[in-house]
Amino acid sequence: MKIDNEIRVRTGDCLLDACRALLGEERVLTGTSMDPYLEDWTGRFIPSTQDRPHAVLRPRSTTEVAAVVRLCAEHSIAVVPQGGRTGLCGGALPVVGQPCVILSLDGMATIRRIDTNARTLTVEAGVVLQSAQAAARDKGLVFPLTFGAQGSCMIGGALATNAGGSNVLRYGNTRELCLGIEAVLADGSIVSDLGGLRKNNTGYDLRHLLIGSEGTLGIITAAVFRLAPEPRVRVAGFMALAQLDTAAEVLNRMQDCTGGAAEAFEFMSDRATEMICQAFPDIRPPLESPAPNGIFFELASSRVSDAALDTDGSPVLHSAVLDALGTLMDEGFVTDAMIAQSEQQRLDLWRLRESVLEAMMHHGPVYPFDISLPLSRIAEFLSRVDPVMQQIGFVHVTVGHLGDGNLHYALTAAPGHDWNALPLDAARTVILDVLTELGGAFSAEHGIGQDKLDAMRYHKQPAQLAALRAIKSALDPEGIFNPGKLLPDPHA
Ligand SMILES: Cc1cc2nc3c(=O)[nH]c(=O)nc-3n(C[C@H](O)[C@H](O)[C@H](O)COP(=O)(O)OP(=O)(O)OC[C@H]3O[C@@H](n4cnc5c(N)ncnc54)[C@H](O)[C@@H]3O)c2cc1C
Repeated sequence: MKIDNEIRVRTGDCLLDACRALLGEERVLTGTSMDPYLEDWTGRFIPSTQDRPHAVLRPRSTTEVAAVVRLCAEHSIAVVPQGGRTGLCGGALPVVGQPCVILSLDGMATIRRIDTNARTLTVEAGVVLQSAQAAARDKGLVFPLTFGAQGSCMIGGALATNAGGSNVLRYGNTRELCLGIEAVLADGSIVSDLGGLRKNNTGYDLRHLLIGSEGTLGIITAAVFRLAPEPRVRVAGFMALAQLDTAAEVLNRMQDCTGGAAEAFEFMSDRATEMICQAFPDIRPPLESPAPNGIFFELASSRVSDAALDTDGSPVLHSAVLDALGTLMDEGFVTDAMIAQSEQQRLDLWRLRESVLEAMMHHGPVYPFDISLPLSRIAEFLSRVDPVMQQIGFVHVTVGHLGDGNLHYALTAAPGHDWNALPLDAARTVILDVLTELGGAFSAEHGIGQDKLDAMRYHKQPAQLAALRAIKSALDPEGIFNPGKLLPDPHA
């Protein structure tokens, strides 16, 4: 879609007139009223002047979204879908100088239905994750998707990035929680599968194509999710592992002692904890001494027997976790540990874990990798990569959803080094090469967006890339959905 500037302006004006007639003047933002929609949480991907969209459109219903998509297709104007702009790879902001509009889903924020018997929740794409969680909680149920951006990110964005977070270990990621999707395709047609069926083998599952497609295959307008029973008892704590390579064994032992009650098993290096406590002085380190291999954990159960009180007055689950930790300490797997003694202490531990990204932003220049590895290769990855990083002037600040083999491995300048003079490209090459050799993935949960196109080009298997491109051209032949994201340009 290469269009000269004059035609571009005329086409844009013509589209905007049609959109105003469709949505109403106040739902078609132009000029400076677009500014809040042109910046994301990272602040890294601000569109250049030539990437500024014609408008930000804010439809209120699926039929309005469909009509907007049809208009954009007629005018050859690309559509950049946008949720809460907390994505970390620049997927929700325009790029590549192609005439476009931003289609914000923030006007579609209705909780359509909660079915307490079927334990399902049907919500529109613009519902903020925390509101979906609260709606489930009001009915005594849990929408388990949990991560630091939950106060701002929206359901459509979580689906489009297949977000993970801290409870994936127990409940799965967004894909596993989703039972069906309503979406608008590139020709403006609406596909709807909101019946909440657990079984439906009637051909290719469009839901699974749209989840994780980062707005490149369709606009998600609503979805139905499975809910879980509210836990009756929760036990959270923090432990220091003697060796990181025993993490899988420690997790399995805790699972075995509690009937598989682990909800979170999160790696936090001593540097990460220190950085958080520096950025937020009211957050206290969980253990007295720094723990290079710290683990924040939470176990939970909805079983009456786990919530019943033991002879010492604490819930059975609490005693089981305490016993397991005692044995792990006796055997030398764990060198120190604490268990939250109150709900406030439990929430404080969660705050510690969820403040890490913000603490990194306070710290100064940081380059985050979001990688996953087979659990058995994590320690090897770190032992191979860390010395090289140190040698070339970086230190890493690492946290991770360890139970899922997912590390957020962030590089920062070692003391005495100037970030701008450090060889980031060389560091990236080393990390991605070792990762590929060990069978890892270069994006575990944040997606590709505009940020990881090079990694996609060089580290995705060529046959897989070809299949993804074939899917894209089948579902979006004119390339109107979110150009310049997820798939690297084959001609560049
Ligand atoms: C502090 C913090 C912590 C985070 N922690 C985690 C974490 O633990 N795990 C994790 O997975 N992510 C995490 N993230 C990343 C981010 O929150 C998720 O990717 C989130 O799901 C994005 O949702 P959003 O509504 O902000 O989407 P946006 O950023 O607005 O968009 C993200 C992508 O989805 C597309 N999109 C948005 N809405 C739609 C729609 N309705 N239809 C089609 N495409 C759409 C956009 O085009 C874009 O490509 C974190 C982010 C922050 C800032």
